[in-house]
Amino acid sequence: MNFWNPYLETLPREAYDQIELSYFRRMFSFAKEHSGLYRDKLKGIEEKDIRSLDDIKKIPFTEKEEMRKYQEVEPFPYGGLLGAPIEKVTSFRQTSGTTGKPIYVPETYESWQWRVESWCHILYMAGFRPRHRVFLPFGYNVYVAFWEAHFASEKVGCELVPGGALDTKGRIHKIQEIRANGMMNTPTYGLHIAEEAKSMGIDPASLGIERMLCAGEPMPPATRKRLEELYQCHVFDHIGGTEPCAWAGMCEAKDGMHIIEPFFLVEILDRETLQKEVDEGEIGVAVVTPLGRRSFPLIRFNTKDLVIKGKNGCSCGRTSKKIKEVVGRTDDLRKVRGVLFSPKTVEEVLRKEFQEVEEFEIIVERRGLMDVITLRAEANPGLTVSSIEQTKARLRESLKVATNLSFNVIMEPPGSLPRYTLKAKRFKDMREGGKNE
Ligand SMILES: [Zn+2]
Repeated sequence: MNFWNPYLETLPREAYDQIELSYFRRMFSFAKEHSGLYRDKLKGIEEKDIRSLDDIKKIPFTEKEEMRKYQEVEPFPYGGLLGAPIEKVTSFRQTSGTTGKPIYVPETYESWQWRVESWCHILYMAGFRPRHRVFLPFGYNVYVAFWEAHFASEKVGCELVPGGALDTKGRIHKIQEIRANGMMNTPTYGLHIAEEAKSMGIDPASLGIERMLCAGEPMPPATRKRLEELYQCHVFDHIGGTEPCAWAGMCEAKDGMHIIEPFFLVEILDRETLQKEVDEGEIGVAVVTPLGRRSFPLIRFNTKDLVIKGKNGCSCGRTSKKIKEVVGRTDDLRKVRGVLFSPKTVEEVLRKEFQEVEEFEIIVERRGLMDVITLRAEANPGLTVSSIEQTKARLRESLKVATNLSFNVIMEPPGSLPRYTLKAKRFKDMREGGKNE
């Protein structure tokens, strides 16, 4: 069987629209009644004013900044974001706080089950089945992504092996010891495990991983391909966040990602005005409303994720809307020397054309009146001095073509750049006013 929920995954378009509109209206009234944030924010708008999906566009977005403000009031620590009596809350999670004070996210038992159920769609779509023994090479801590992965794996029927409290070598040994054939990780950490395995004399392909589901960072197609080659396995992507949950995942056709409908109402809006839905193939900002999670109601959450809208329909038979690709975050897009620059473009070039580059870092600085952009590239061990010079020249050329910017390229010795387990921080904007995340 190909579907986790054959009924919900193959509905006609009109049915999705109808269901999502009715769920949205219900969630709207619920939020207004139960959360302090929405009591204030939605004053003056009534459920009866929302008669079509177009009417939804008149409702203001929810931004992270205002959520921080409403979190400050009672009851501690969720304040006006809480949609349930505090005694009903059964688990605490939080955002990573890379862009400011963390948001604390409450789950009731019921809302957690809703969240896990929607995650099952992502896993099942990526071909995870009861025959898979899935290794999770992380300590989950207070961050939600791998907790969701953990519980959804169990629900789908996989055998889940938690891999926290081990170093990378220890994790590689564990994969071998228990013969894991599935794994979920950030793309960066997947590459790092492969690199570490090679240094131990183990071919990553020999680990026997058949399926890998990636999370946590935008993954350019070239990075996905590289992981597939290294492990000789199928690699899938998905997108989500702590606040809105995981809302789209890649099916076995590996042609974009399906929005998990009707769990989420996802709008992809043009990034200048945030008003109009973009057309297929265009870049827009994802605005997400989770339609069944009551402990932490969110109406039109501005994810700041930039995605390319995909085509409708898929060879897998699912009928939900698709996104073609995740471009990055609006926060990551910067003007450098007047040119709009996305760090993801650099990653795409490196993973596609420069197998000899293991890790990298991008730094933007202002020298005098000029922006200077530098790539620090870490070479594979074993590269000769003359091939390092050749790589440098090729890097400058390829990056110029891909980004329209002249890069200052520095080659660093093997092992000198930081390795990341969770969110990689490879882009540093050192200019005044530049956010260095
Ligand atoms: Zn599909």
